[in-house]
Amino acid sequence: QKIAIAIDGYSSTGKSTLAKQLAKALGYKYIDTGAMYRAVTLFAMRNGFIGDGRENFGALVKLLPKIKLNFVPNAKLGFSEMYLNGENVEKEIRTMDVSKYVSRIAEIGEVRHMLVEMQKEMGKEKGIVMDGRDIGTVVFPEAELKVFMTASPQARATRRYKELLDRGEEVVYEEVLKNVQERDYIDSHREFSPLRKADDAIEFDNSDMGLVEQFDRLYSIAQR
Ligand code: C5P
Repeated sequence: QKIAIAIDGYSSTGKSTLAKQLAKALGYKYIDTGAMYRAVTLFAMRNGFIGDGRENFGALVKLLPKIKLNFVPNAKLGFSEMYLNGENVEKEIRTMDVSKYVSRIAEIGEVRHMLVEMQKEMGKEKGIVMDGRDIGTVVFPEAELKVFMTASPQARATRRYKELLDRGEEVVYEEVLKNVQERDYIDSHREFSPLRKADDAIEFDNSDMGLVEQFDRLYSIAQR
């Protein structure tokens, strides 16, 4: 019987890697909810609603109905890519620039409301792995399997730094570390659905346990 799996946790804990592997092995759909917050952030940046000291959230909220988000499967890559109003923005939403502003945008109640509704709709059919910050607490409190991932800020910043370098971005390690810590802070202190472990979630600390072991453990639970 197919189930819903919610994977939450701090930035760059390896949530999406684990979620993708699980979805593939189980034949489930994978939804990266961070990509949705990132796409809305890119939209806000392009329209001048955030960036360089500017913030106009009222204008952004008014335009929210004009934002169309889609996950389009890419058979060659083996996963779905994020489309914003018909444009493939998969690469652009992963840049350091978007990472800088995304947690501010994710604080806006109207943005969260819109995206949570979309996520609930996408997960109506069981056989889903969704990763984010509030999946086990708000989006799918009834998920059969919940995971909460943590790791030291240094371990996470190192992971993100390598990813950005691999993508050809010029980044400084200290800046990546600062960004990871700032997002953790904003994500866990915001007014609407702050990041926290659901009471019934299994906690995984990456510093003690490798991804292979985490995968094996979850895969065997999910198959029961
Ligand atoms: O997972 P990722 O690091 O791509 O998420 C980017 C940001 O989007 C997070 O730092 C957080 O501010 C926001 N987010 C959220 N709720 C989710 C997923 C992401 O607030 N479910």
